[in-house]
Amino acid sequence: MKQGRRLGRVIKFYSNLLVVQDLENGEKLLCKLRGKFKKQGIRPIVGDVVEFVRVVGNEGVVENILNRSNELKKPSVANVDQVVIVTTLEKPEVPYDILDRFIVLVEYENLPIVIALNKVDLLSEEQIQKFESIYGKLYPIIKTSVTQRIGLEDLKRYLTGRVSVFAGMSGVGKSSLLNALESTLRLRTGEISEKLERGKHTTTAAELLSLSFGGWVVDTPGFASLEISHIKPLELRELFIEFENDKCFFPDCLHLNEPECYVKKAVEKGKISPTRYESYVKFLNELFEIDKTSERA
Ligand code: GDP
Ligand code: ZN
Repeated sequence: MKQGRRLGRVIKFYSNLLVVQDLENGEKLLCKLRGKFKKQGIRPIVGDVVEFVRVVGNEGVVENILNRSNELKKPSVANVDQVVIVTTLEKPEVPYDILDRFIVLVEYENLPIVIALNKVDLLSEEQIQKFESIYGKLYPIIKTSVTQRIGLEDLKRYLTGRVSVFAGMSGVGKSSLLNALESTLRLRTGEISEKLERGKHTTTAAELLSLSFGGWVVDTPGFASLEISHIKPLELRELFIEFENDKCFFPDCLHLNEPECYVKKAVEKGKISPTRYESYVKFLNELFEIDKTSERA
């Protein structure tokens, strides 16, 4: 890195200006883009790590964009470290196949998953145990309650130092969890120069909320469309991480009615949860329907 350059993360856009947070000291700067980006047709997105130079006060110029480790489209965010899937079993009663749909979509993007089982204050020990028996083998589960302030420290530990996207059905408590953390952790806001306030907020792009202990949360929930039609039938089985696809007799086994299918045997033996397998078959049938329609077209 050239002298005078610093590393920062893009957290927000204001028309042609961007807010960059210094990775070392957490300071937020209002930055312009070096002209070469426009010529090259390159534009940073929220989450990008950039090299910038300070100009005056809280202003700077972005000189370079570092390679992205990944890029989500909706919301448009780069370098996502994990997705926190928030769910619950009461108010609303989130069906297992909806949770599995979120999981499949995140697995397709190859991002680490953490499940927050929220509203545990409303759940029986039995409900929680059943949930853990299915998902505890697959992903880390944080049990949380906003009203009883349970599990918030655990959640905080997962968020520290990472860029996280929250996902989950409406009403499960995504915003409540964030607000609960924000107030305890005194989320730093309003540190940007007043120039920014005067700038026109033209984009509806996502924004990173920067957490006081280090770490960022995307302000827009991810995977909200629940659309799986871009996934191919043979890809789907890879997204159920407990399926050991290579153990079946046929390498391209779809685990439906093929002979010597290890996955079906594992379901019968109780090694794979029946609800997970049911979700798989349901999604697969949906994908077949999509294939049929597109062949007819
Ligand atoms: P979102 O749509 O996922 O962002 O959900 P909200 O954060 O808006 O929460 C939906 C409702 O659930 C609100 O009325 C919250 O007060 C309530 N809620 C959130 N977390 C909890 C919790 O842990 N326990 C209980 N009992 N209610 C909660
Ligand atoms: Zn099989």
